[in-house]
Amino acid sequence: MKRQLKADAVVIGAGVTGCGVARDLALRGLSVLLVERGDVNSGASGGNHGLLHSGARYAFADKESAEECHEENTLLKKVAPQCVEATGGLFVGVPGDDENDMADFASHLEASGVPYRKISAEEALALEPTVNPDIIAAYEVEDAAVDPFMLSLDNVADTQAHGGELLCGTELVAVKRDGKRITHAILEQKGSGITFEVETACVVNAAGAWAGKVA
Ligand SMILES: Cc1cc2nc3c(=O)[nH]c(=O)nc-3n(C[C@H](O)[C@H](O)[C@H](O)COP(=O)(O)OP(=O)(O)OC[C@H]3O[C@@H](n4cnc5c(N)ncnc54)[C@H](O)[C@@H]3O)c2cc1C
Repeated sequence: MKRQLKADAVVIGAGVTGCGVARDLALRGLSVLLVERGDVNSGASGGNHGLLHSGARYAFADKESAEECHEENTLLKKVAPQCVEATGGLFVGVPGDDENDMADFASHLEASGVPYRKISAEEALALEPTVNPDIIAAYEVEDAAVDPFMLSLDNVADTQAHGGELLCGTELVAVKRDGKRITHAILEQKGSGITFEVETACVVNAAGAWAGKVA
């Protein structure tokens, strides 16, 4: 069976990226169709550690990522506080670690704008009693725990509240084009055997690790 649909934007993949993008577009007044071949967060977004990075982890090797993490950490705590538990995080140096790295850590955090507090070994042990007691240096940062399921489902709910739609169990299998411009997304729904031909001017590829295949 074939069905015709129309949407301003078709977002492929309902992980944290696709659900966030769908909500963003819906809030801007576009009609949005969010398409997921499995279920919400059935890709990497449902299998991660739920660590909302402060940026400290990347401060040494990747300043740009550290800055982005800090920005996103601050933003998520503001727009989705119900999904975030502000646990805080510790970076500790122990015997065997590179002493130069430890001495430089604070300046790397500062260069990336990642907030930190240098704390004593006693304070670190009081916060986390199972940490190696031979601490040489300890830094408290703004790492947090994020519930990626709540985040995506809340984004989907708000997308729907703004007129958007979610199709699960449905895979993008092809597109139709007019020259270089995509005109239709072709979707197949498992189980029902329905093929959707969606007229659209915009397909957003939010397929995570499968983005190359979708592209
Ligand atoms: C083991 C692990 C631990 C991690 N831990 C953390 C962490 O602690 N903190 C952190 O910030 N990040 C972590 N990450 C990274 C984080 O999980 C990912 O960056 C994030 O989930 C990516 O989201 P996404 O929406 O881009 O991709 P995904 O969540 O993978 O979503 C892509 C979706 O696209 C769908 N899809 C693919 N092809 C099609 C198609 N043709 N049609 C329809 N749908 C399609 C897939 O089914 C999938 O649901 C971790 C990753 C892994 C693997």
